[in-house]
Amino acid sequence: MAWDFETEPEFQEKLDWLKTFVAEQVEPIDLAFPHHLVYDKAHPVHAEVVKPLQAQVKAQGLWACHLGPDLGGLGFGQVKLGLMNEILGRSTWAPMAFGCQAPDTGNAEILAHYGTDEQKQRFLQPLLDGEIVSCFSMTEPQGGADPQVFTCSAERDGDEWVLNGEKWFSSNLRYAAFAIVMAVTDPDVSIYQGASMFLVPTDTPGIEIVRNVGLAGEPFGEGTHAYVRYNNVRVPAENVLGGPGQAFVIAQTRLGGGRIHHAMRTIGMCQRAIDMMCERALSRTTQGSLLASKGAVQEYVADSWIELHQFRLMVLHAAWVIDQRGGNKARKEIAAVKVATAKVLKDIVFRAMHLHGSLGVSNEMPLIGMWTMAPVMGIADGPTEVHKITVARQVLKQYSAAPGMFPTAHLPARVAAARDRFAHLLEHQMTNDIF
Ligand SMILES: Cc1cc2nc3c(=O)[nH]c(=O)nc-3n(C[C@H](O)[C@H](O)[C@H](O)COP(=O)(O)OP(=O)(O)OC[C@H]3O[C@@H](n4cnc5c(N)ncnc54)[C@H](O)[C@@H]3O)c2cc1C
Repeated sequence: MAWDFETEPEFQEKLDWLKTFVAEQVEPIDLAFPHHLVYDKAHPVHAEVVKPLQAQVKAQGLWACHLGPDLGGLGFGQVKLGLMNEILGRSTWAPMAFGCQAPDTGNAEILAHYGTDEQKQRFLQPLLDGEIVSCFSMTEPQGGADPQVFTCSAERDGDEWVLNGEKWFSSNLRYAAFAIVMAVTDPDVSIYQGASMFLVPTDTPGIEIVRNVGLAGEPFGEGTHAYVRYNNVRVPAENVLGGPGQAFVIAQTRLGGGRIHHAMRTIGMCQRAIDMMCERALSRTTQGSLLASKGAVQEYVADSWIELHQFRLMVLHAAWVIDQRGGNKARKEIAAVKVATAKVLKDIVFRAMHLHGSLGVSNEMPLIGMWTMAPVMGIADGPTEVHKITVARQVLKQYSAAPGMFPTAHLPARVAAARDRFAHLLEHQMTNDIF
């Protein structure tokens, strides 16, 4: 029997340190600096405030824990990373302080998996050292969920590839040292075999950021999700990652990790919402009694706790499956977690916000900002519907069609077979009944 819900005492000590460190050292950065600066390494807050914190994280052996030793990292696997990310999810700047922010984690993962020694030295090492940030450039303006509509292409020209086309929502391109760009390299086959990944330094001539799109609430034109045009962007042949035609195999590795890391951090965000919800319920009196004493409010608290507990177990189980069997064997679990993430965040944060009344929906509480992350979680890294299809396909794979006209659960045949099996006893029963 190996079911175990305990955390090793030594690792629990690390988590306790992490919790205090995030609350005391990192959350004040969230309150003082806007979110979009998280990736702007040129801003002095990075050198003066974040870097010294990163040194403390490194000293604790908690830096860049998304890569396990098999990929040259210091990490301890997805379950432990999950427990860490639950705490980091409470703060916008915390992943940067710990060197495990998206999309750099996923980019580092695929570089570690598929990169040549030279690519690792040039792109992965500075990323893992926290010196640079990176971008993943896959979605196109005409569609993200269906790669079959992608048209951004790369053509071979001597020792170089030449990229042309548009990408949409290429997060952090404006701050990135390089982008991993997916482009069609063989239009005569399915995109799933005819696309490749390119490592493109962002100072390469021909990269035109049409607009930096922001999320709702961010100042217009000052967002971090680039609508980008690649105009005859030339990269050397050695900048193909993993070989021509490998883009989708690589993307699958990358998106699996990214999805579960978002889910892990969402646990932290939901727990923060529950903390606020409970504090409010115990602080506010209406019609002569505390909110906490009202049935409807107790239902909010109970439903939220139950939903978060279910979600947390689901996320940690998916993390465990990845640790035990690898990401490719955890596709169903990861997709299910991805589906659940947006819903649990939407429901729990909504209740916390609602319980705070007008204050909850105001700009004096963080709740409405947290709530807008719910639809984002339902879309980034693929929409909910697509992940449900993955779950359904994986579940259906475990079944086959009924051999005959009627379902195998059809009672007449089953009852007849069972009666045959116990015929001698049933005869005895009937005899007794008669006398
Ligand atoms: C905050 C954020 C950051 C992002 N960062 C990046 C990034 O760094 N790099 C990058 O390449 N992309 C990034 N994306 C893009 C993201 O991957 C896409 O938005 C996503 O894949 C959906 O593509 P789309 O927006 O074009 O929506 P569409 O593909 O147009 O889908 C729109 C809607 O159609 C429905 N739908 C789609 N497919 C199906 C289906 N098969 N069955 C039923 N309904 C369906 C769903 O309701 C879906 O939400 C980011 C997105 C967000 C929100």
